[in-house]
Amino acid sequence: MSKFFTQRLSSLEAYVPGEQPKDMQYVKLNTNESPFPPSPSVSAAVMEEAGRLMLYSDPESARLTAKLAEYYGVSASEVIMTNGSDEVLNFAFMAFSDEDHPIAFPEITYGFYPVFAKLNRIPYTQIPLRDDFTVNYRDYVGIFKNIVIANPNAPTGLSLSSSEIEEIVASNPDNVVIIDEAYVDFGGESAIPLVRKYKNLLVTGTFSKSRSLAGARLGFGIASPDIIRDLNTIKYSTNPYNVNRMTAAAGYQALVDSEYYTNNCKIVVQNREYTKDALRLRGFKVLDSKANFLFAQSPLISGEELYLKLKARGVLIRHFNTPKIANYNRITVGTREQMDILLSRIDEILKEKKDENS
Ligand code: PMP
Repeated sequence: MSKFFTQRLSSLEAYVPGEQPKDMQYVKLNTNESPFPPSPSVSAAVMEEAGRLMLYSDPESARLTAKLAEYYGVSASEVIMTNGSDEVLNFAFMAFSDEDHPIAFPEITYGFYPVFAKLNRIPYTQIPLRDDFTVNYRDYVGIFKNIVIANPNAPTGLSLSSSEIEEIVASNPDNVVIIDEAYVDFGGESAIPLVRKYKNLLVTGTFSKSRSLAGARLGFGIASPDIIRDLNTIKYSTNPYNVNRMTAAAGYQALVDSEYYTNNCKIVVQNREYTKDALRLRGFKVLDSKANFLFAQSPLISGEELYLKLKARGVLIRHFNTPKIANYNRITVGTREQMDILLSRIDEILKEKKDENS
């Protein structure tokens, strides 16, 4: 730390993204990316746009915004496009929460929420999950706080129904409720249809998972025009050209090619169920995920040991060194071939472990 770093920020613990290792080619199942490349016309649109990079991007991303609005059946004034959904989430923390407007979120959830809160000096409450890792939606009913909930939640993959979400939103009319739908396309129920009914609801989404554009950085928020205006005030006060030309072109084309992505999601869901069953057959406890990852624990090996042994064998999964979930690992669902490699490496490791113990 330099002597110039402000006192206020000196204790900030930054978010730690999943590893992006360069030492070897891994079967990469640690950051919930899509195993499928963007559709060919997305790559072509990006190449074409590259020839116009001497010009700033459109700060309104008007063409992309209109396409996304059409896709979700809302109007363009109800949409903001951002540099990944991390950006819209940070904008929302900045815009709607402060010392007098604290925020609440589940104790086990996306690790960026406490970082956004600390960065923006926002008091926050972490509400424990039930013992089975489910979010008890009643804990959020009428709590007079802003709320952010990932639905499906990460890293558990468990989800709330839209009627449960509606009860949370309806019972907190003077607070903003953010529903982070980064993983909704793999089987969750979206709250977007509720946006017209509730002026305090902000739904965020991303192109990073179901639309194979993690490296392009594209996210969005859908809410009432008033909420979108506030988010734009933050955007135009920080980074007006937040979505670059190539990303806007990629996002637009990805929406045109929706069928390709919907089909990829179906394959991921099939592979998720296949892997879940296979892990359960091997004695793992596996939560019923509605996302593109599984959260799993073996009674035979600790979460950390399994993570390290898989890494040594070229398979990367995510381990969180957090007390309540230290024995679990989060495994991104990839292609069937990747899942079979994972399972056969797990078989080797568990066999070794049994031999050691006998
Ligand atoms: N929300 C959740 C729950 C996530 O897991 C992630 C991915 N790390 C994000 C939001 C942000 O994703 P992105 O910025 O790539 O849109």
